[in-house]
Amino acid sequence: MSILVTGGAGYIGSHTVRLLEKLGHKVVVYDNLVTGHKAAVKRSLFVEGDIFDSERLADTIKRYHITSVVHFAAYSLVGVSMVKPKEYYHNNVVGTLNLLDVMLENGIKQLVFSSTAAVYGEPENSPITESMMKSPTNVYGRTKLIMENVMAEYSRSYGLNYIALRYFNACGAEGAGDIGEDHCPETHLIPLVLKACLGKTQCLKIFGDDYPTKDGTCVRDYIHVNDLGQAHILALNALANGHGSDVYNLGNGNGFSVKEVIAAAETLTGLTLPKEIAPRRVGDPARLVASSDKIRQDLGWQPEYTDIKKIIATAWRWHKNNPDGFEYQ
Ligand code: UDP
Repeated sequence: MSILVTGGAGYIGSHTVRLLEKLGHKVVVYDNLVTGHKAAVKRSLFVEGDIFDSERLADTIKRYHITSVVHFAAYSLVGVSMVKPKEYYHNNVVGTLNLLDVMLENGIKQLVFSSTAAVYGEPENSPITESMMKSPTNVYGRTKLIMENVMAEYSRSYGLNYIALRYFNACGAEGAGDIGEDHCPETHLIPLVLKACLGKTQCLKIFGDDYPTKDGTCVRDYIHVNDLGQAHILALNALANGHGSDVYNLGNGNGFSVKEVIAAAETLTGLTLPKEIAPRRVGDPARLVASSDKIRQDLGWQPEYTDIKKIIATAWRWHKNNPDGFEYQ
């Protein structure tokens, strides 16, 4: 397999690339470095390019004899998507449509697509299975659901074979501690908590404590980034072996509240963090917890990191060793 990884310099992308490299796959990272980091790509071939640049995409596909694509390149911050919807629809929808055009023009029909738990919105039942109603409460989730629907049509009409992976809350970092989560702005809970542990955040904000959950704060299913990466490898192999288009959830099946995540980080570091209750963040569902039975059964996926404290410990190692992210690497 010769694999094009769009967004391979980003958080989940770079971890997946690391796993693919370890297995000896030929990987070409394609990233415009708007949110990704060149320093996160240590060994693979790197092409600086935008998913809107059809010519560069087509050249890259031809030059490196690409056989499959893993498409991470997207904007992915729920909160930002609510204030900048235009950027999110443009990048995640129009950009992905362009990538699909170039792929099909060049005969590439195997695609692993980054989707999200945000496609479900506020489901009535938990854990969430793939067939439950999709009704996103934020723009980010809507952009991904639109593309899932488009890909289903392209699969029927043009023979595209895709596997969409609906990530719940990605977190943690690679064991070596040289790649990890580094967003600008950082809006995700675990990195913000760990930045607070490093004294880099003045006061941690808990967005809402009046949700209908165990302690009033939002509940999420935190899944280690390497376990997400492994699922991409299983999906690529499945597609190469003739698996048809499909959609899978990726989560641990355990829900942790915002307060529980903060408490776990406090236990790990021995610190008491400054925190305050802030208003709810627009677009946040109360509870998102996955059933990942489908991918376990179909593709044999088995997450390695099931303990939230161990997951946070891997992220802590990255943040402690790289308090300024990739900036000084
Ligand atoms: N959250 C919070 N304070 C923060 C950042 C996040 O209370 O500074 C909450 C957020 O409202 C959500 C949960 O933490 O309920 C996880 O948010 P994150 O942005 O990490 O992931 P999301 O679920 O939005 O993809």
